[in-house]
Amino acid sequence: MFRIQHLQWMGIAAAAVGSLLLGGSSALSNFADYQRHSHAASELERFSVLLDAANAISAERGPANSAMGATDDERVERQNELTAKRAQTDAAIQRMEAVFQGVLSDSECGAAHAQLHARLANGREQVDFAANVPFAERDPFDVSRGIMAMFTAADSSMALRDLVSGHIMRESPDLAGALMLANSAGTLRDQEGRLGSYVVMALLAPAERDPLYLQRMRATEGIIKNLWSTNVSMAANLLPDPEIVELVKAVERDYFNDALITALDAADMHAADNSLSAAQLTENYVPGMRSSEQLRSAVVKHSIASLHRNSEDALRGLIGSVLLSGGILAVLSIVAIAFRNALFSPLMRLHDEVIALAGGDHGEPKRVRSAAVEVSDIFGGLRVLRKNLTEKRALEEEQRRLNRRLRRLAETDTLTGLLNRRALLSRVDAMFRRADRIGETMAVVLFDIDHFKYVNDTHGHAVGDEVLSGVARLVDSTLRTGDTLARIGGEEFVLVLRRVDEDTVANMLERLRIQLSETPVQGKLGLTVTASFGAAMRPAGSAMDWDEMFSVADQRLYIAKGTGRNRVVVQGYSPETRQRA
Ligand code: GH3
Ligand code: MG
Ligand code: MG
Repeated sequence: MFRIQHLQWMGIAAAAVGSLLLGGSSALSNFADYQRHSHAASELERFSVLLDAANAISAERGPANSAMGATDDERVERQNELTAKRAQTDAAIQRMEAVFQGVLSDSECGAAHAQLHARLANGREQVDFAANVPFAERDPFDVSRGIMAMFTAADSSMALRDLVSGHIMRESPDLAGALMLANSAGTLRDQEGRLGSYVVMALLAPAERDPLYLQRMRATEGIIKNLWSTNVSMAANLLPDPEIVELVKAVERDYFNDALITALDAADMHAADNSLSAAQLTENYVPGMRSSEQLRSAVVKHSIASLHRNSEDALRGLIGSVLLSGGILAVLSIVAIAFRNALFSPLMRLHDEVIALAGGDHGEPKRVRSAAVEVSDIFGGLRVLRKNLTEKRALEEEQRRLNRRLRRLAETDTLTGLLNRRALLSRVDAMFRRADRIGETMAVVLFDIDHFKYVNDTHGHAVGDEVLSGVARLVDSTLRTGDTLARIGGEEFVLVLRRVDEDTVANMLERLRIQLSETPVQGKLGLTVTASFGAAMRPAGSAMDWDEMFSVADQRLYIAKGTGRNRVVVQGYSPETRQRA
């Protein structure tokens, strides 16, 4: 035997554990994703500070080249621009150092960092050396040395950048794609600048140095094309954002199909008379790099945004799975409570009510308000049953009462209220058996009012009835408990006495006879009557049945009547004498 409620509890517990496990594992994995993505986003934000520093070092080349190319008139202005640019670079480097304190103290990165400072200082020294000479005396060789030294400084910054990004990739492998793309975009922009610089150097330098610059220009072109085709042009796939897609197209249009071709043509034709001047080339070339510059910053910006989106998605997933499993748990609890309140508790109440009803308790129990409709219907059915049973019980009670009344009427003599003959006869056998069982002697007494016909004749039947009632009342009042008095005919009565011997019976009847003769039994006229008594004794275990006993008592009454009336006869006639007679 099992309880459905237990099964329901088990089901609900299993569902609750299941939803906790599923929701919990989904929440944990979302939480891990959230942490991973937000950590990655903050790592990339941090890294972008380093990229800014590297870009600042690359970008310092522009003002440096201008300062080295400045005429004497322009010199002060160009110098000031360079100083301002250098201050920006230094600030960017300081920000990077603040952000990467821990990483930069690592031996490998520390060495690269120290080298960056040394090479940047050297580059600036070379630039100043070239720029601080009056225009007419300036040696193009010094200028190109300054440019190359700044390249070396940029190389150092990129080496440091690659070291640090390797460091970050080890901790957050998720970032590999974004870091490589950002690095490549930075490198692309740097190499584009270099290519322009090589062409400018070829344009400015004496012819015998051209092959060196042009060779370097070709190498740089190779690097640029390689970077583009294998890496940076993929940005649109890695970060499918309209801005990025647009910028990739813009780089192809502005740089590869325009600025690069202009630079390469200028390099091819630099020896010709109609070749571009360095200033003209710079004017055409620099705007072509702008979209590469924008692509570089957009790549970093969108990578960070995409990581933030991922971490927000994970956070939403986390909240969603917590809410979902919380919701499922709440629903399960509500279902369990609803089942308990609406079904199981009412069912137990129903059980108690049915048991109470079966035990005869028809009281209307308190209504169960929370029960489900189905259970309420059963309660309704039970109410109908209770009502029917209550009605049936009332009917049965009424029937019993009527039966009792009927039996009393059937057994009672209406005039005197005594037992009638039939009732007496229905009891005597049981009385005899009982007496035999407990060893009791009994007496059967028959008495008859003397000359009763005279009372009727003299005073009328009604007075006769009053006399009969009066006699019955009087005799009844003298009886002991257990004795029985019945009216068996007109003015004939029977007394059945228990626990008596013959003397007692004789004395008792004698007292009764005297009392009756002296006591008025009819109120108004104060009439008195006498009666004659015949008694038969029945010792315990006697074989004498009722008829025999009655017959003996009747004979003795007859003797009493015959010997003058108003007397008691307890001896004389017996079955034996009757047989003799
Ligand atoms: P005895 O001394 O020999 O017994 O004489 P008795 O007159 O009493 O006896 P009898 O048998 O001659 O008369 C009995 C009368 O009792 C006859 C009858 O009318 C009357 N009787 C019988 N039943 C009733 C009754 O219920 N009410 C009244 N008022 N009289 C009754
Ligand atoms: Mg009589
Ligand atoms: Mg009589």
